[in-house]
Parts: sequence; structure tokens; C-alpha cells
Amino acid sequence: MKAIIAGGGIGGLTAALCFLHFGWDVEVLEQAPELEDIGAGIQISPNAMKVFEKLGLVEALLKAGFQPEAIEIRMGQSGMHLMRIPLGDTALKRWHMPYIHIHRADLIAVLRKALLIQKRSCLSLGAHVDRYDQDDRQVCVTHSGGAEAYGDVLIGADGIHSIVRKQMLGPDKPVFTGNVAWRSVVPVKRLGHDVPDPVACAWVGRGKHAVTYLLRGGKLANLVGVIEREDWVSESWTEPGTREEALRDFAGWHPKVTRMIEESENLFCWALYDRKPLSGWVEGRVALMGDAAHPMLPFMAQGAAMAIEDAWALAAKLAHGKDITAALASYRALRFDRATSVQAGSRQNAKTFHQHTPIGRLKTYGPMWLAGKIAPSIGLARQDKIYSYNIIKAAKI
Ligand code: FAD
Repeated sequence: MKAIIAGGGIGGLTAALCFLHFGWDVEVLEQAPELEDIGAGIQISPNAMKVFEKLGLVEALLKAGFQPEAIEIRMGQSGMHLMRIPLGDTALKRWHMPYIHIHRADLIAVLRKALLIQKRSCLSLGAHVDRYDQDDRQVCVTHSGGAEAYGDVLIGADGIHSIVRKQMLGPDKPVFTGNVAWRSVVPVKRLGHDVPDPVACAWVGRGKHAVTYLLRGGKLANLVGVIEREDWVSESWTEPGTREEALRDFAGWHPKVTRMIEESENLFCWALYDRKPLSGWVEGRVALMGDAAHPMLPFMAQGAAMAIEDAWALAAKLAHGKDITAALASYRALRFDRATSVQAGSRQNAKTFHQHTPIGRLKTYGPMWLAGKIAPSIGLARQDKIYSYNIIKAAKI
């Protein structure tokens, strides 16, 4: 049995490893001429790490990444601590896997190495998927202006602007959220006393928030800054913005945020669009996964984690190689509610983080601060639904 996977991003490469784990053959078609990712960090939570444990990758990921001590929420200007959710040993005990931060390029490198060790020839670079055709025996994928690849299934792991989704469901209708996001990665040696603490920290405030954390064993610091602005519409992750503009957006904020902007050599800015849950993710032998199936706002740091869970679910459901359409329908049934609820939670977090009025801030951040003081376990319990989830058990047939 063979899976053709459109897209060699985080989801596509993980899916390839999952299919190989279950004894399938795979071919990954990636449009980029080189397998690399944008210069940015990513948080991988324990629910996704459970898949990497099954694939034997935890040690390599821990070596390449950074283990934060906690998740914190702080006021963006004063730096006042509102909430702290311990990670480290607490995460291990409670959710049975570590929580890590990793540079996206390092994550891709770990996945690529693991894949090529198992099957050298399964990755085609510079292979842009154009379309697919299917019958009751196979699916044919046309790529790079005429080349054809044949398989038993096609997995659309081709991201937010998915061609596979477009053919399956028609053009999507993204809605601009009124938010734009800045991102940058800065060597910590440039940051002096303003190196971010060894935690994943969300800095919140009026109409904006920022997230800071460390990468690569603590040598690099990652910044994402989200601000409500109407004047930037490009959804590309690679469009540069200027330092002056970013400093203007975060003027008066804590130096652990602004120093990163001052010291950054590359700042990128993109507009955040929202998409409604899709009606279908599956058509015959073709299935969508990751951002192609359920693109979400980045405010719960769960987009890649959902793609990683999808990858396992797909391969596990198809493992027996029998009735493919039934297996793909079962994949969709397993994943739809979970992915949709995380999509909705991410949308809600923007509202929580960006309180506009003093009364709104008091009503939202006051209870958060109080809970942190008198019942800190509330913060842990709030994460249980996401981090305790075990796709390995859930996808067992
Ligand atoms: P992608 O990673 O986008 O990969 C798609 C791949 O398909 C790409 O390699 C692309 O080149 C290729 N491709 C596209 N079209 C074609 C085609 N026609 N033919 C062949 N190849 C094609 N998630 C988390 O879990 N934790 C986080 O901390 C986190 N932080 C984030 C911060 C920001 C600012 C943003 C924007 C997102 C964040 N996410 C996070 C979300 C996460 O990055 C995405 O959900 C994740 O990358 C989705 O993976 P994917 O494989 O579905 O798509």
C-alpha cells in the first residue's frame, strides 16, 4: 500500500513517518527546492510528543530544542505576573511527555533525517502538486507540470493555501481578523539583561499581545507579537517588516519584548486570517490534514500539534490497508471535533489576550491573577483537555 503525501512540512513529514511505521510505502511531494522552514520557533506540547515517542524521536527533539520551566501570562507593559503553569517534571507527571520549544528548521531536520534513514528515495523536492484524479483502484497525482505519481491514497498536507483542498472543496473564503503578527528569532547574547525567562510567556495588553520563549538549548530567543491593525493584508509568512514599525506597535512595552525587536536583524509581519471549519476533509481516496484541513489562529500554539495528531490518526486508521474510504471517513470522524474545538479556542484566546478597556482587563486578568495565587492548579487543569489527549489510544481500531 502506498500513500502519496502532498507537502513536506511538519504535518506531511510526520505523516510519512507514521505510514512507514505501519508498514506502508510513501512518497512525499514538496514544492520547495530545499526542505527548510521559516526562521521561527514552535512549541510542541505533550499531546503531540506522544506521536514522536512512538516514532522514536523524543531524544533527538530534546537535544535540538529547549524545555521551558513553565507557561506564564504577564502584563505587557508592567511585566506583572498574572499566571504561571509549571511544566518540566510537572508536565511529565501530569501529561506523560515533555513540553518543548524548537526552531522549526531543527524540527524539520529531525523529521527529514528519520525519514531518509528509513527510505532514501521517498522525498521529491521541487515537486509542486497541481491536481489529482482517482478511480476505485488508485489515485494519480499530477505534479511539476506533468509528472505523475500513483498511490492508494493522497494526503493533502499542503498547508494553509492547499491546492488539494481547493480541488476538493473549491476556493476558501478567509476572513481577515484585524490582527497582524510580527515574528523574529534573536541570539540571546545580544539581549543582555533582557533575555526572556526560560518559560513560554504570553505578554498581554490593550489590543495586542506578544509571546517570548527560548530555542536551541537557550541560545536563541523567539518573539511573536500580535497587534490589531487593519493596514497589512498579506498572509505570507516571509514578508519583511521594519524595526521602526514593530517598535511603534509595541512602544512602552516591557524591555524583554522591545529589546528583542531592537536587536532583531530580521522581522517578518503577516496578516492573520480566520477560516470556518470545513464541511468535508475527505473525498474517496483523498484526505486533508493539518492546516489544509483545519487552519487555525496561532493563539493556542496547537496548529502543528493538531497536524501531528492527524498524521498518526490517518496512518493508524489506514494500517490494515482494507476499505480505504471507510478508513478515511473514520479518520475524519475521530479528528473533526477535536480540531474544531481547538480552532474555536484559538479564536477565543485572541479576545482574552487583547482586553481593550480597564474594566475588561480587570474582569479578565483579575481572576487569572487571583487563581494563580490561591489555586495554581486551576491553570494546569485548564490545559488537561489539550495536553492529556492521547491520539495513540484514540486511533486504535
Ligand atoms: P505547513 O507547515 O504549512 O506545510 C505545508 C507544506 O506543503 C510546505 O512545506 C509547503 O511548501 C508545501 N506545499 C504547499 N503547497 C504545495 C503544493 N501544491 N505541492 C507540494 N507542496 C506544497 N503550531 C504549534 O503546534 N505550536 C506553535 O507554537 C505554533 N506557533 C505558531 C506561530 C505562528 C506565528 C504561526 C503562524 C503558526 C504557529 N503554529 C504553531 C501553527 C503551525 O505552524 C501550523 O499549524 C503547522 O505548520 C501546519 O503544518 P502543515 O504541515 O499542515 O502545513
